[in-house]
Amino acid sequence: MSIIHYSHRVLFVVIAGLSLSTALTTPVRADLPEETVSPDAPVDTDEDEEVADIENSVPRTNGTVPPVAPITQPTAAGNTDRPPAEPAKRIAPNIDLKEVTPEALTAEPLEAAAETDAEPDDAPVAPSPAASESPPQAATLTLLDTDVLPGTSTRLAWTPNIQIAGLAQPTPVLVVNGTRPGPNLCLTAAIHGDELNGIEIVRRTVYDLNPAKLSGRVIGVPIVNLQGFQQASRYLPDRRDLNRHFPGKPDGSLADRIAHSLFQRVIRHCDLLVDIHTGSLRRTNLPQLRADMNNPAVASFTKGFDRMAVVHSSGSRGMLRNAAVDAGITAVTMEAGESLRIQEHQINAGVNSLNSLMEKQGMISRMFVWGNPEPVYYDSHWVRAQHGGILFSEVKLGDTVSDGQILGYVADPITNAQHPIKATSKGRIIGMAVDQVVMAGFAAYHIGSKATSPEEG
Ligand SMILES: [Zn+2]
Repeated sequence: MSIIHYSHRVLFVVIAGLSLSTALTTPVRADLPEETVSPDAPVDTDEDEEVADIENSVPRTNGTVPPVAPITQPTAAGNTDRPPAEPAKRIAPNIDLKEVTPEALTAEPLEAAAETDAEPDDAPVAPSPAASESPPQAATLTLLDTDVLPGTSTRLAWTPNIQIAGLAQPTPVLVVNGTRPGPNLCLTAAIHGDELNGIEIVRRTVYDLNPAKLSGRVIGVPIVNLQGFQQASRYLPDRRDLNRHFPGKPDGSLADRIAHSLFQRVIRHCDLLVDIHTGSLRRTNLPQLRADMNNPAVASFTKGFDRMAVVHSSGSRGMLRNAAVDAGITAVTMEAGESLRIQEHQINAGVNSLNSLMEKQGMISRMFVWGNPEPVYYDSHWVRAQHGGILFSEVKLGDTVSDGQILGYVADPITNAQHPIKATSKGRIIGMAVDQVVMAGFAAYHIGSKATSPEEG
């Protein structure tokens, strides 16, 4: 119970740190100075890319997906493109992440780590499991110039080096290195700074892990876009969408540089990646994965997520999950709820599903109680409003709808005209706009129709 109480205290701190003054700021690219726009950078759309992401998706290759290999040894999840290990400058202090502290979201001062570094011969020895229990030993993880010893957990700091050096603000990276070998699972959230549910999903998942009982490593970056988070903004300070710039470039725009730094210094160490988002532009999503089901490794990976809707989407250029997959990392996007809100139900669904994933990957053993042990697979499309006005929905997130069913109305506040929006197929409402003022063309309802699961495909 105390954990629950504490959660709320932390949430309060998180929310208190937000300034809502810029929440309604809309991105205007026209006012960007010309020279800040890299000529070959992908064009950011002011349109919600989550809608475009679905509509531009390469169709699922029905019936031609190669049989999916069952999830076997975690080490088989192979990012073969990991950066070579370089000598670390320090050894990370071992922090008991289960022991909650008020500074839970702040980076550990580097001086504390440096002290340890001064006496490398006396480096703390990782607790070793009983030899009979598990002979293979985990290795030290070198990340962000720091050695994280097996059986320890710590907080590191990533700095993308784009700020005034004296004012640079390190972004916390939570690391748990297990006592046994296994995959490196990375969890990233708030690449869009106004998407809060994922921050809490990462916190609860990582802080609940015991390194002595973990196989592999979990690397959590709860707030990737720290500047956006502090301004309650989806975008970076230059109004670009960071999730259109991966894997980034060292000499490109601000977004390119931040993306490049995160990708090289953190993401390339991952075997598996779950990038957590929410709906945008006042749309909400049923807890769901976006995954390229045409990629056999990704399709297999989705099978570990308990009680998740899995929506096929090939993604767009510059998205973290696309860049990660291109680099040999098995990656999906998780969507949960809407931006600028903390939604307990959505957070629970995300945490629950990540725990089931870790258990299926052989990373933890919790006697996990499975609900509907399989995720449900969907193909999907968006239904748009044909008229401007005020949207009033007749359906709720998660509802099953029939073809032609009225999903909601757009009411013209001046003429009193009522325009129904009808479902264009039967299926389930996996995402929808909350009631608001809409213009003609606004994507209002995301309908998922059941698709075959990977092994049926
Ligand atoms: Zn997002």
